[in-house]
Amino acid sequence: MPKLFSRDAALGQNDEPGKPGMGQVMKEAYERSAATDGQPWKSRDVAQKIIDCRSNCRGIPLFRPKFAKEQLRVDGKPAVLMICLKGKKGCPGTFFTDVPPETVRDMENRSGEWRYFLQKWDEEDALTTDLRQRIGEALTAEVNA
Ligand SMILES: [Zn+2]
Repeated sequence: MPKLFSRDAALGQNDEPGKPGMGQVMKEAYERSAATDGQPWKSRDVAQKIIDCRSNCRGIPLFRPKFAKEQLRVDGKPAVLMICLKGKKGCPGTFFTDVPPETVRDMENRSGEWRYFLQKWDEEDALTTDLRQRIGEALTAEVNA
């Protein structure tokens, strides 16, 4: 992973409030990556990533919609970066595009939003049987030490 996409950078540890120029440069770099590598926000695909991250890599998925205090956007629509806290090394960040605004609000207002998303999609019957069967494991997997 290039340094720009390091865990610290993704978490905003490198955001420098006194240097708005740098934050803006980073935000634009993230937006270019999201435009190139991002996948559309679809409940099944996001659930798959969350479940893989919890069960296989034993990390905590975290969604970051803002950089330099501004919403990431691709083609005018919200984009987010999903990062993996405490997971195994090499668990890559994933960009999602076309994220509904109310979903972005959930990310900003909730903690452990991955848990909320899985439960919501399960209740809405939006997931495949295969994914539903793995939710329990995803919810209870120990975090990587
Ligand atoms: Zn992970």
